[in-house]
Amino acid sequence: MPTVYNWQIGREMSYPHEERHPQWQFAFVFNPNRCIGCQTCTMSCKSTWTFSKGQELMWWNNVESKPYGGYPQHWDAKLLALLEEANPGKQAWDASQKDHDKQPYGVFEGMTIFDAAEKKPRTDGAQQALGYLPADDEWRSPNIHEDTPTGDHFQSADQFGGNVQLPEHKVWFFHLARICNHCTYPGCLASCPRNAIYKRPEDGVVLIDQSRCRGYRKCVEGCPYKKTMYRPTTRTSEKCVACFPRLEGKDPTVSPTGAPAETRCMSACVGKIRLQGLVKMNEDGTWASDPKNPLFYLVRERQIALPLYPQFGTEPNGYYIPPRWVPRSYLTQMFGPGVEHAIEQYSCPDRELLAVLQLFRANRQIVFRFEIEPGMKVGEVEVTMPDGKTKTQELFNDTVIGYNKFDEEVVRVTVEEPTFERPAEVHVNSI
Ligand code: SF4
Ligand code: SF4
Repeated sequence: MPTVYNWQIGREMSYPHEERHPQWQFAFVFNPNRCIGCQTCTMSCKSTWTFSKGQELMWWNNVESKPYGGYPQHWDAKLLALLEEANPGKQAWDASQKDHDKQPYGVFEGMTIFDAAEKKPRTDGAQQALGYLPADDEWRSPNIHEDTPTGDHFQSADQFGGNVQLPEHKVWFFHLARICNHCTYPGCLASCPRNAIYKRPEDGVVLIDQSRCRGYRKCVEGCPYKKTMYRPTTRTSEKCVACFPRLEGKDPTVSPTGAPAETRCMSACVGKIRLQGLVKMNEDGTWASDPKNPLFYLVRERQIALPLYPQFGTEPNGYYIPPRWVPRSYLTQMFGPGVEHAIEQYSCPDRELLAVLQLFRANRQIVFRFEIEPGMKVGEVEVTMPDGKTKTQELFNDTVIGYNKFDEEVVRVTVEEPTFERPAEVHVNSI
């Protein structure tokens, strides 16, 4: 197999195709600290793309309650177990070898799904990526174990007060919203024997060519996130298409000047947990330095948002701000060794970071550049940091301004939410 460089694991790795990268890459940041599990995103996707016959069990966007929930059921626990079986006791990171640009989380010294497939060939046929095909019943319950917490419910006599202390809650769960990560090294693409899956050179979106697909379901097996799904009525596999007509600026209701727009699931998010963007890529697959692009700023500059299971090796382009009440060992397994740093920053964001965080769900067009206008100081708060020490956070009512691809201003948000008082007159339909 050729080798490619994967910056998320800080090293080269095997991949069945030569390294080649798009000009721009579709990417997103989700903030599970704010997700309320309302499933509005899930339904906005379903009502747009998967409402037809044969797509009944197809949820390109899903939101699962961790640690027990999953769609398909136990997808991540099963893959972690397969990797552990392939490389017992050695699926570990060396976080000491950090480099801000080349290997920001250190080096993953275990096996990725591609390393494991190469080093541990199966007897029942070659695999390009270690994986498994979920059984039919594992796809039947998109929201199984909803809101089911784990932990010691009877930790103290003062049951509730004893369980809600930061830095980690003793009883916990959180909502993990998921879509296809439009990976840099997709497991689905690597596994397809028909070369039916391709990555678009203009935006890195991963698509399945329906005319080439024969429904072998190798992509379903090879995607570690289980984000390709089989449709029995057409006998082909389907997956998230990143709402590409909107990315191309072809929805005039959202983009009157033809500028790229966010996907339906991003636009619909009630909890304002989602920020989607396009990041400029260098030819070698690194992100071109662009610190005024909100995605670049959050992921590469500040490292507050982390990839989901980077150790799988696909270099997913979905990033998460880790939920700060969850045990660190669980989060580190899920998001890698950058968790402490990310949570520390999120617990007490500085002035600039706090302003950029206001861009989540502020507008439907994609923000390519932000500017911050300084505002008045509006307060000070004492914040308890993850190490138990307190820190004073100064709050300023700054304004963050977002610009679209054509450098047109599309959004302006202040840190302090404005309040409006309705006049005292009588309104129709009011009491
Ligand atoms: S998340 Fe899965 S389906 Fe999406 S690009 Fe990555 S490997 Fe393919
Ligand atoms: S719409 Fe937003 S808040 Fe609601 S479940 Fe989806 S990601 Fe979470």
